[in-house]
Amino acid sequence: MSNASRLQELNQRLEEIKQQQLSLDLTRGKPATAQLDLCNGLDGALQGDYRCADGTDSRNYGGGLGIPEAREFAAEYLDAKVSQVMVGGNSSLQLMYQYVVHAYLNGVSGPESAWVNDASNGERIKFLCPAPGYDRHFSVCESLGIEMIPVTMDENGPDMDQVESLLKSDPLIKGIWCVPKYANPNGIVYSDEVVARFARLGKIAGANFRIMWDNAYAEHHLADNPPELANLLALSEAEGTAANAIIIGSTSKITFAGAGISFIASAEENIKNFVAYLGISTIGPDKVNQLRHMRFIKNMDGLRELMQSHRNILQPKFELVLKHLDEGLGDKTVNGKAIGTWTRPQGGYFILFDTQPGLATRVIELCADAGVKLTPAGSTWPYKKDPANTNIRLAPSFPSLEEIDAAMQVFVLCVEIATLEQAA
Ligand code: PMP
Repeated sequence: MSNASRLQELNQRLEEIKQQQLSLDLTRGKPATAQLDLCNGLDGALQGDYRCADGTDSRNYGGGLGIPEAREFAAEYLDAKVSQVMVGGNSSLQLMYQYVVHAYLNGVSGPESAWVNDASNGERIKFLCPAPGYDRHFSVCESLGIEMIPVTMDENGPDMDQVESLLKSDPLIKGIWCVPKYANPNGIVYSDEVVARFARLGKIAGANFRIMWDNAYAEHHLADNPPELANLLALSEAEGTAANAIIIGSTSKITFAGAGISFIASAEENIKNFVAYLGISTIGPDKVNQLRHMRFIKNMDGLRELMQSHRNILQPKFELVLKHLDEGLGDKTVNGKAIGTWTRPQGGYFILFDTQPGLATRVIELCADAGVKLTPAGSTWPYKKDPANTNIRLAPSFPSLEEIDAAMQVFVLCVEIATLEQAA
């Protein structure tokens, strides 16, 4: 069949689908209700006993570092020492934002170190942004006027030659955003060699440089024998650069996305300074929620058991997306070129689809017209500019299997239509 008649046939099929007036959404990586239900036991977990392990009353003010049992747990979760850990409120994104503001305005180790000093001659400070990446990291930079420099990634993580050479040539670069395991959105797990090179970046970039190591998906596996991520903080300590590493995590995709607890770990001095900064805006985090979490999850064994239950819900959804991609597009070519490529993540919340160059916007538009909402084109890139216009982030966690089934039929159809349109 010629490209033109195939296009006509597919457009006809799309018109029929439009009659169904679908309203489907594959945009955000939110847990499904069934996942949230796994942790309803949080409600009432305290049974009137508000005392922490050290006897403090969790209901009262104070405890800027978090309650002792939550710090112990977070240390194990983040692979850090208890003294290097602080446990916060419901959002790690908020901790990251606050850390960047603290470094920018107050300085990571006193006023002399404030990034704002480097920006005094009308120059802007800069962050490296391995891309595609997490859109909300980029929004933090954009909102503060921090210039973003995209960095290429391959299956081992960011291109470290590029990272090192940029750092050598530009002292205004003060940070880098990373999602080192099951990265949002491309699912990459950074290799041991890449992590080892990260541990040495402080030697190039200096004492005020920060690696924002957002390990949001550390235990969020979708396969057996999950890959291990090397321990950046421990490697950095060995290199004498622990202060450059800021390790972050939360229970947002473990317990309740909007009501979990968040963690941050780094050199003790960093954590002390950061907690002092936070102390200006709050007289301590929600310790009752921290305690509730510890009584409910108990320990890392409890957490892993819970993550297995999440996997049981999530894995069929990922498999269904991949089935549609494999069966609908797997062996299809247009003018001799594959119609698309996609990731097979071993964990995390996303599948990344790449169209042929220049087509992501059109595919997303065609899907939207047929009632299937996708993450806007470019949103996984700094300034929302995907230079090749190919990336489409698929987030299958929230919709039901039936909804994914319907949405993916539309997606596969729209990818082929957009590719044929361009080839015409
Ligand atoms: N980091 C990454 C990489 C994420 O994907 C998300 C959620 N989409 C977050 C952080 C947000 O975490 P929290 O709910 O703890 O703010």
